[in-house]
Amino acid sequence: MLQDADTCHFLPQVLQSATPTCGLGSEGKLCSEPSCVVELVKVAHESRLKSEVRPMLKMMNCFVMRGVGEVGMMEKAVPRPGPCDAIIRTTAALVCTSDVHTVAGAIGDRQNLTLGHEAVGVIHELGEVAAASGLFKIGQRVAVNAITPCYACDNCQRGYSSQCGGMLGGWKFANLKDGSFADYFHVNNAVANLAPIPDSLTDEQAAYCCDMLSTGFVGAEHADIPVGGSVAVFSQGPVGLMATVGARLRGAGLIIGVESMPNRIALARKYGCDVVVDFTKENPVEAILKLTGGKGVDSAVEALGSSATFGACVSATRPGGTISNIGYHGDGDSVPIPRLDWGVGMSDKTIRTALCPGGSERMSRLMRLIQTARVDPLALTTHRFPFTDIETAFRMMRTKEDGMVKPLISFV
Ligand SMILES: [Zn+2]
Ligand SMILES: [Zn+2]
Repeated sequence: MLQDADTCHFLPQVLQSATPTCGLGSEGKLCSEPSCVVELVKVAHESRLKSEVRPMLKMMNCFVMRGVGEVGMMEKAVPRPGPCDAIIRTTAALVCTSDVHTVAGAIGDRQNLTLGHEAVGVIHELGEVAAASGLFKIGQRVAVNAITPCYACDNCQRGYSSQCGGMLGGWKFANLKDGSFADYFHVNNAVANLAPIPDSLTDEQAAYCCDMLSTGFVGAEHADIPVGGSVAVFSQGPVGLMATVGARLRGAGLIIGVESMPNRIALARKYGCDVVVDFTKENPVEAILKLTGGKGVDSAVEALGSSATFGACVSATRPGGTISNIGYHGDGDSVPIPRLDWGVGMSDKTIRTALCPGGSERMSRLMRLIQTARVDPLALTTHRFPFTDIETAFRMMRTKEDGMVKPLISFV
């Protein structure tokens, strides 16, 4: 039963966060529909009346960015969910080069921010509104995309949910709030952002959907590859390799990878590159022009995040073609475009950009591709570490020593 506002100590908290735009709890805004708020308050309040007294504050281990260039382990309280949120107990995570960029200061300083955005686990706690949805249960295995939009703001409604609330705003983990390199992590807007993991998939397989498959595949989706067309994928790191798989799935007739490291060249061939150009042995633009009869490729995917590579993508793409950028340009004030190869700005070449699309619907589709053996991401796992040794994994991800492609972090 809903009590009067002044006799319900829980009501102000609900009004503050139990709304369709409650992305970051207290930073959210009220829904403008009075009936919506009343219904949410009712559900949340009745659920609260039935619930038991909250347990004592529990502590957990986290791997944090202490400041620019400095990382380490620290203890924090296990987070609690707002009404629309969930708390996940982490079981498996992957370290990303983006984490390395972040610690290097690419998005500014952060103090004691928990790193990590590629993780899966089991539901530990659900907020009242998320629980009332009936879609999830405690103990259920779920994957959570690196990007967790609210799906209610202007940009989300315009179809650009990765830009939720502002540019790159869908990227909350290890950017706007604590990430998932912790025993537990918080997920906003749980109903839209939790994706159940099918029984036939391991945690490790599902973890690859959080960023590697989603980002790699959007690189191919945005590249607008004609069926049978040609595509060049610059850099065959984990994201580039998944862009290669995406290009194959999208019907490319010729896939040219650009890479120099021998283990990555081998993976590029395994994942679908017809030719791999070693840019340390030949000019990649000249090699691509030669492979396409002097025309250039229909589409180029930038999966590294370097000005030189981006410029090469523009130069190697034929007029009317598409350059799809998924690389994280972590330094410099600008990314130059080669003027003449851009047709002095009139070449009909399209440049598209994307940040890892999120949401449970896309996550489920990505997991289906693994279930039906359209892609096997496990060859990307070159190293394994327990969570207690994540600092070693992080250091090796920075230097890429010992042929590291992706390190899997296991939690017990
Ligand atoms: Zn990532
Ligand atoms: Zn949004």
